[in-house]
Amino acid sequence: MPETLNLKSHLNHPTFALIGSISDAEGLETYVIGGFVRDLLMYRHKDHSDIDIVTVGSGIHLAKKVALAIHPKLKVTVFKNFGTAMFRDQDVEFEFVGTRKESYRLDSRKPIVEDGTLVDDQNRRDFTINTLAISLNKDRYGEVTDPFNGMDDLESKLIRTPLDPEITFSDDPLRMMRAIRFASQLGFKIEEDTFSAISRQAERISIVSKERISEELNKIILSDMPSIGFKLLETCGLLKIILPEIQNLKGRESINGIYHKDNFYHTLEVLDRICVNTDNLWLRWSALLHDVAKPVTKRFSPALGWTFHAHNFVGEKMVPKLFDRLKLPLNEKMKFVQKMVLLHMRPIVLSEEEVTDSAVRRLLFDAGDDIDDLMTLCEADITSKNEEKVIRFLANFQLVREKLKEIEEKDAVRNFQPPVTGEMIMETFGLQPCKEIGLIKSAIKEAILEGEIHNNYDEAFGFMLGKGKELGLNPVKG
Ligand code: ATP
Repeated sequence: MPETLNLKSHLNHPTFALIGSISDAEGLETYVIGGFVRDLLMYRHKDHSDIDIVTVGSGIHLAKKVALAIHPKLKVTVFKNFGTAMFRDQDVEFEFVGTRKESYRLDSRKPIVEDGTLVDDQNRRDFTINTLAISLNKDRYGEVTDPFNGMDDLESKLIRTPLDPEITFSDDPLRMMRAIRFASQLGFKIEEDTFSAISRQAERISIVSKERISEELNKIILSDMPSIGFKLLETCGLLKIILPEIQNLKGRESINGIYHKDNFYHTLEVLDRICVNTDNLWLRWSALLHDVAKPVTKRFSPALGWTFHAHNFVGEKMVPKLFDRLKLPLNEKMKFVQKMVLLHMRPIVLSEEEVTDSAVRRLLFDAGDDIDDLMTLCEADITSKNEEKVIRFLANFQLVREKLKEIEEKDAVRNFQPPVTGEMIMETFGLQPCKEIGLIKSAIKEAILEGEIHNNYDEAFGFMLGKGKELGLNPVKG
């Protein structure tokens, strides 16, 4: 018989021993299970802030007993419907549940739940690498229980379901997204039968709420190499259901032997590239969506070849619909993504031509405080196969960055506030609200952006007087 693995020395959190001794006193068999154990065995546990505890009995009862022993006032949150309870101890959330057996109906993700043994509970879990349990009772403290060879799968970096994958995914189709999310996060492969079952069951994703789907999508996007997840989503047929806009980017059409690039793979390259420089979920979403309107704006003409005219404008308009459908936030985060999609070509265009001060000023004005994020997106967007071209672009880009800094220091247009307000114009010329005020205001803004005058009160005021004169207005004597 192989020696039982013991991880006693890794159970550093003092609460583990406490849970063990209280379980002994209560006559309960208790284990730590799930992500914590998986990550512990992969040396990824340092960032784990939630720990799942399972006991053969009442999880709620055990949670209350342990919390009381830690501190009489420690708050326990109980979810009676789910039979779970949790508390927070030293920045770690401990979630308790009783071992259970689950069976499913075809039309719902909600299982019929009964009490069960540890193995029943391990059976209901999604992947073998998530079934590993470590005993907390004193006589077996630290011992690993691994009925599905989860350790071997961890070793071979495999995502595999403990039961027949067809049933596992049909029972709870969210697990398909979770499989791909884990593959992307951990850099694991999905075992062949498991993956073919996902391909066959893909349509069943429709019974899963949009919020849960997006939660997994976000985790894929936040992984180090989201392209792994998106390629899997595409291959198994989930992508066309949950994100048809991204699916539509795939493929290369040719007319007269002229091909355009495959915008799906280009997008994934941009997404992977941006992940090296930012953890901002919404900037990563911007990378995913920057070319989203290319399929709908695609045209071919013999003179110009393939064009995607105004795909940034159309893309900006597509974002709210997509966010709404996926139940993503429709607030300033979405507006940020829209802005990035709208402006994503501006710095690149700048780097292609001679960089003029006024073009840089306009970019600063339009991007405002998001200028650095926009530059990060644009740099990630330079993915040509032609190395010489990439080097040239990146060098020009450096120039744009320097110019941005220089102009911002000089003219401070990043958060442009008109140095002469509408009220000042009205007062100077003795006007009631009328269209001339707007005309003068935008003429001042244009003059600043074009570099005709500096962004200060004196120059703007002088310019206003001249503009008023052109419009036949005279200052009232003060
Ligand atoms: P992470 O914390 O990185 O999301 P995790 O594995 O801890 O990873 P949780 O969602 O916290 O993920 O789930 C905890 C455990 O519960 C999992 O390890 C797994 O054993 C089980 N589990 C969670 N969701 C499901 C599901 N839909 N089907 C089956 N088992 C699940």
